[in-house]
Amino acid sequence: MPVTQRFGEGHRILVSGGAGFVPSHTVDALLARGCEVVAIDNFITGSRDNVAHLAGEPRFTLIEADLTEGLPPLPGRFDAILHMASPASPTDFTKLPMEILKVGSIGTMALLERAVEDAARFLMASTSEAYGDPLVHPQPESYWGNVNPNGIRSVYDESKRFSEAATMAYHRFHGLDTAIVRIFNTYGPRMRPDDGRAIPTFIDQALRGTPLTVQGTGAQTRSITYVDDLVRGILLLLDSREPGPINCGTEHEITMLDLASLIVRLAGSDSPIELVERAPDDPEKRRPDLTLARQKLGYEPQVGPEEGLSRTIDYFRTLSNASQ
Ligand code: NAD
Ligand code: UDP
Repeated sequence: MPVTQRFGEGHRILVSGGAGFVPSHTVDALLARGCEVVAIDNFITGSRDNVAHLAGEPRFTLIEADLTEGLPPLPGRFDAILHMASPASPTDFTKLPMEILKVGSIGTMALLERAVEDAARFLMASTSEAYGDPLVHPQPESYWGNVNPNGIRSVYDESKRFSEAATMAYHRFHGLDTAIVRIFNTYGPRMRPDDGRAIPTFIDQALRGTPLTVQGTGAQTRSITYVDDLVRGILLLLDSREPGPINCGTEHEITMLDLASLIVRLAGSDSPIELVERAPDDPEKRRPDLTLARQKLGYEPQVGPEEGLSRTIDYFRTLSNASQ
């Protein structure tokens, strides 16, 4: 396996968006390896609660700052910078368009500059949205995608594509040590019930006994990944010397109608399913081609949908019990 380094004890890592869902799990995994971690977050979609369990951890620092207003003072050198900050739910695409564009452009450039100064490895959290509404299935990294450049999803899709372009330009021009992970739909504990994405929405509805709002006919598919699998993939990529995009996800492709039924069953709910209007430009299908992740990283997802969704439902139950 071509792994050439291992980030752990003695390494200092900067994580942007560190109080978010995926980033906070990544922070936990880095700390578990012995790294020192500094997280920057403005809490626009994340929460201090996601890292509350790290209070008193001497190797963890949380800094409240908006990346798009220039980096706050960050003394000392970082060995790696993980750029994970960005609102990511399609409901944010209309609520926070400027914030998404800025964090994917100004925020990305600020962190790339810092990575050059520190000679740090720079890992950028990209997305399966880079493929838009794909005409190739499953999607290999070599596919350039089918993105509407000015539709309602474009603020997110294009800012991630810009971030990829910027990352590769810094790699080519400055010789920066880079990595790009194209993340497919990931779910798990610490997602917000009002996040707007399908899985937290369906779980919240199933636990409340209200109808599950499946958009369109529900025949559209996604391939769903439990957060622990994604974080393992991210760390494998971080440890590698792979500079360009690598898909990370699973081949658990499921229609939204089947996903809603599965969540109803696993939650022991009697909620009905209601078909509602579908958002424009919603991708029809999505499944990663994992060949590169397997070959280059030795990545293999381990958590199936029933297990991952059950764990997530349990987490949402603890949230609703706590609020009663
Ligand atoms: P999230 O919203 O929980 O995490 C993003 C974090 O970034 C939040 O804590 C937010 O407050 C912070 N943030 C946003 N703008 C910021 C700014 N200007 N300055 C400082 N902090 C800022 O979302 P997530 O689902 O955990 O996604 C994390 C990353 O992974 C994002 O970059 C997202 O685009 C990417 N991604 C996630 C998925 C997924 O399925 N969860 C899929 C593809 C890509
Ligand atoms: N979706 C749905 N009901 C919801 C939220 C989403 O049917 O309440 C559908 C949406 O139309 C899309 C799929 O679920 O086809 C995945 O949406 P999500 O927002 O989770 O992520 P995306 O992959 O679109 O970024």
